[in-house]
Amino acid sequence: MPARPTATVYALSSGRPPAGVAVIRVSGQQAFDVAWKLAGRRPSPRVATLVDLRDPADGSLIDRGLALAFAAPASFTGEDVVEFHVHGGPAVVDALLRALRQIAGLRLAEPGEFSRRAFENGKLDLTQAEGLADLIDAQTETQRRVALGLAGGALRERAEVWRAAMLRLLAGVEAEIDFSDEDDVDSDFDRAGTLSLRDEIAATLTRAAIGERIRDGLTVAVVGEPNVGKSSLINGLARRDVAIVSDVAGTTRDLIEVALDLAGVPVTLVDTAGLRETDDPVEAEGVRRAKARAAAADLVLHVGECTPSSAVGQPVVNKVDLGSELPGFRDGIIYVSAKTGAGIDVLENWLADWAGRAIRTDEPPIVTRERQRRALEATVAYLNEALDQSDAVLRAEALRLSGRSLGQVTGRVGVEDILDEIFGRFCIGK
Ligand code: GDP
Repeated sequence: MPARPTATVYALSSGRPPAGVAVIRVSGQQAFDVAWKLAGRRPSPRVATLVDLRDPADGSLIDRGLALAFAAPASFTGEDVVEFHVHGGPAVVDALLRALRQIAGLRLAEPGEFSRRAFENGKLDLTQAEGLADLIDAQTETQRRVALGLAGGALRERAEVWRAAMLRLLAGVEAEIDFSDEDDVDSDFDRAGTLSLRDEIAATLTRAAIGERIRDGLTVAVVGEPNVGKSSLINGLARRDVAIVSDVAGTTRDLIEVALDLAGVPVTLVDTAGLRETDDPVEAEGVRRAKARAAAADLVLHVGECTPSSAVGQPVVNKVDLGSELPGFRDGIIYVSAKTGAGIDVLENWLADWAGRAIRTDEPPIVTRERQRRALEATVAYLNEALDQSDAVLRAEALRLSGRSLGQVTGRVGVEDILDEIFGRFCIGK
């Protein structure tokens, strides 16, 4: 392959200093030169080597650490890569980054640039890049598992199998066009194969909503009259003071969100402003937003005081310490006291069960983003069009468009416009 005039880039790839260890990654044609300049040697590929890192300007020692080299194409980016593992103090990291900045031809990597280079060199497809981003953001076990599957190529592999099947179908239809003068016109169109491909992609799509929920988290709106103890309940669940608790009715003026990890499932509780009619424009806006949020939530917890509310949602009766009811779960109603904490564990377990049911599937979801889902929906729509077409030329065109949509899932075709958006969301160093 001809050498491409791509800059060699560097960045701190580990978290913000101070830390025990900092990893600074260098990727590009000059990576091994950089090792020469700083460490006085090129480490053997894939062998951690203890080196003295010196400032090339004056030879002064910056730190002693490990150097790790990966020769192209067997590296994360597919380019030559050198990593320096040094002490993770801010001054050490600064000195090393300063030394790198002074080397001609090097520049600081942009956010997501290492991953983007990996994509451009065919080391990752788009779904794997998205999986990596999700893995970095994963807060709960379920999110980690799904992200790891995606990063490992779960969707990429499916998409490649589908693509191969689609090319076979297209070859059949093209043969049909070439020999259309002969009789038995429909013989080369594999209708059964097209149907089964469509059904398989559609089945994957039925789990997409769950994949998106796992990635984004489930939303639970906590609603009820002012002062019934919604904020107190959320505090009890979050076990930290995030929602304002006050004796004045209607003080929760805005939405307050609390992210919980319920048995590995991400759940966001939304505290809603007291749902009452009001003349105060600020509070009225809070009420309007609360209603909209509650309407879009996966679950509504309807909190009442002493008696269960008859409104929609899962009824929760708070303040049992003031009445005669015992805390616990009876006849579909959860009884708690946010003040004493009684029954909060029951509420938490109930929510965890509900969240577990909400994301349960036979197979793990492999579609987790609207972008992937939309491209696959288009793939299915064009397959349906191919099935409906009686004209071989139009059928071939529909199959081609279907293949094009499928190619957008993995980033094989027509995705230039979205690359900045996908990779720009990564942090620097990834
Ligand atoms: P919200 O307007 O529904 O969010 O209600 P808050 O959480 O602000 O609570 C209103 C008042 O009820 C506060 O004074 C709380 O201390 C009190 N409160 C909340 N939960 C309980 C409870 O379980 N028992 C008792 N006795 N008081 C509570």
